Amino acid sequence: MIQLEPVDTLVIGSGPGGYAAALRSAQLGMKTAVVERNQVDGVQFLLKTAGVTFLQGEASFIDERTVVVKQQEIEQKFSFKNVILATGSRPIELEALPYGGRILSSTEALSLNCQQAWWS
Ligand SMILES: Cc1cc2nc3c(=O)[nH]c(=O)nc-3n(C[C@H](O)[C@H](O)[C@H](O)COP(=O)(O)OP(=O)(O)OC[C@H]3O[C@@H](n4cnc5c(N)ncnc54)[C@H](O)[C@@H]3O)c2cc1C
Repeated sequence: MIQLEPVDTLVIGSGPGGYAAALRSAQLGMKTAVVERNQVDGVQFLLKTAGVTFLQGEASFIDERTVVVKQQEIEQKFSFKNVILATGSRPIELEALPYGGRILSSTEALSLNCQQAWWS
């Protein structure tokens, strides 16, 4: 496992909450890193130009001061002074309306290849 340099602020998630917090942290002079599991090229570019380290991968905690970031076979370990959890939310499946067939979560709806049936 690769051990990375410790940071002052580690932000998990690069949505509107995460990237704004990371930019502010960097503005305040703190060594800052963001971990994001999805491909987010525009945000990644913005953060890098502000001096924020960007790591793509899935973050999980080893202990209260250490996170491991997994991307395929690669594991990188990070320690931090402060952590900001900006991991967003996810859709809840209703017991009476399980996903499948015509019942989609918002994530699935946004991934549809053809939206014609919905708009017409
Ligand atoms: C269908 C839909 C339409 C919307 N339309 C609008 C709109 O028009 N205008 C508006 O203002 N808001 C809209 N919203 C709401 C808006 O998307 C949310 O308010 C906003 O994205 C929340 O930001 P966030 O940073 O808290 O979380 P998110 O944007 O969800 O970001 C969280 C990030 O954390 C990452 N992540 C989570 N866990 C891990 C982990 N373990 N390791 C690494 N990365 C991780 C995720 O990949 C994600 O990128 C909409 C939401 C939905 C679902």
